[in-house]
Amino acid sequence: MKPKHVAVVGTGYVGLVTGACLADIGHRVVCVDADKAKVATLKKGGLPIYEPGLDAVVAANRKKGRLSFTGDLKEAMKTAELVFIAVNTPPLPNGEADLSFVETVARQVAQNLHRYTVIVEKSTVPVNTGAKVRQTLRLHGKKGVEFDVVSNPEFLREGTAVQDFSKPDRIVVGVESERAEKVMRELYAPIKAPFVVTDIKSAELIKHASNSFLATKISFINAVAALCERVGADVSLVAKGMGYDARIGASFLRAGLGYGGSCFPKDVSAFIKMAEGVGVDFKLLKAVREINDHQRHWAVERLRQALWNLRGKTVAVWGLAFKPDTDDLRNAPALDIIHALQAEGCKVTAHDPVAMGKAGPLLPGVRLVKTPLEAVREADALLVATEWKEYKAIDLSRVKALLRTPVLVDGRNLFDPAAAAALGFLYHSVGRGSAGLAGH
Ligand code: NAD
Repeated sequence: MKPKHVAVVGTGYVGLVTGACLADIGHRVVCVDADKAKVATLKKGGLPIYEPGLDAVVAANRKKGRLSFTGDLKEAMKTAELVFIAVNTPPLPNGEADLSFVETVARQVAQNLHRYTVIVEKSTVPVNTGAKVRQTLRLHGKKGVEFDVVSNPEFLREGTAVQDFSKPDRIVVGVESERAEKVMRELYAPIKAPFVVTDIKSAELIKHASNSFLATKISFINAVAALCERVGADVSLVAKGMGYDARIGASFLRAGLGYGGSCFPKDVSAFIKMAEGVGVDFKLLKAVREINDHQRHWAVERLRQALWNLRGKTVAVWGLAFKPDTDDLRNAPALDIIHALQAEGCKVTAHDPVAMGKAGPLLPGVRLVKTPLEAVREADALLVATEWKEYKAIDLSRVKALLRTPVLVDGRNLFDPAAAAALGFLYHSVGRGSAGLAGH
């Protein structure tokens, strides 16, 4: 394989992983970011995000001279045959995706195009964004310079991103020319995975439809969990029994505090908005979003049920990141729950294995402590908000000894209800009933 020269614009969770992993399969990659501090950190060999395994891939490929960083798109585009747009597409207040960063990059790319280049939409964008990128390139680019726009949505999961890149379930490529398809096939040749070639609009829809479907599975099992709580059934057993059905599958059927992060909440809302824009009322996804919002209230309600008045009480929160193995706090259920508790006059002590640095500025008034056991000392209750493995390994009898009252609200069904009850906890979990003193 002849290595390709690639520029990746945006070095966040997606851009940095994409850039580093493309370098790892042999390409020459320059990663560009507008954030000077990020570029400075990367140039010094540091990483601006926590992602398991990424540091080693970045270090190895910098050493081999296949991966470099710059703040200057013009410099990066000097040799680039492909330019990946991997900038953020955050939600606007009305739920639509904010595409202004994508537009800015498309304009800058147009101004620096000087030979045939494939411009790859990597960011998650609503259908028809490819057409807008193409129009921007035509309006701002030099006449006679050829280019192709490609949609190549990213399906990596934070926490397992490096592995997801090298062993993806599929690679989706939306193209409008055979020439662009050939370039994309060559780029990904070392990766063995089903290669799905579509038109650009379908590729854009595949990403939003996939994320919305996964969010639907999560809200579905949380709705079943609410039923289980009413009738005294166990949602984890229901999910187990469902998951063996190959048509359903076991993943994303874990009841809990709901989805968070930078993707599902934003992508579900953007999909609803996009559908609305073309006259389709996506009622199903509106319900998915509503159920998900409710899960945060579930946690506060259970704490209230256990502690009666929240004012003046102290709640210890284990886990701040929106899921384990990441330091990403965007739309993390823990943050919303903590804010709701503070609004009721509750004090909060919190711990997270990796997200503490990022959490400080977002959680004024919260006492952030270095160990999970320090968090529970003298607290009136413990809320498990993120299912970090290290929490599961903690001896609950030590937790009980440190808590002022043995209240455990397990928002991620991390512990065994019978074991918690046997230790004397008043234990609540999602869709598995309450145990211990809770029944009294
Ligand atoms: P991020 O916020 O972590 O990173 C985006 C980066 O783009 C930032 O470093 C920012 O400084 C940079 N940037 C913004 N404007 C720029 C410009 N004009 N020039 C250069 N750099 C610029 O975002 P992310 O989580 O990596 O997500 C990027 C896109 O990928 C989003 O559309 C997201 O929905 C999608 N996506 C994310 C994930 C995920 O797990 N995070 C997974 C799949 C898809």
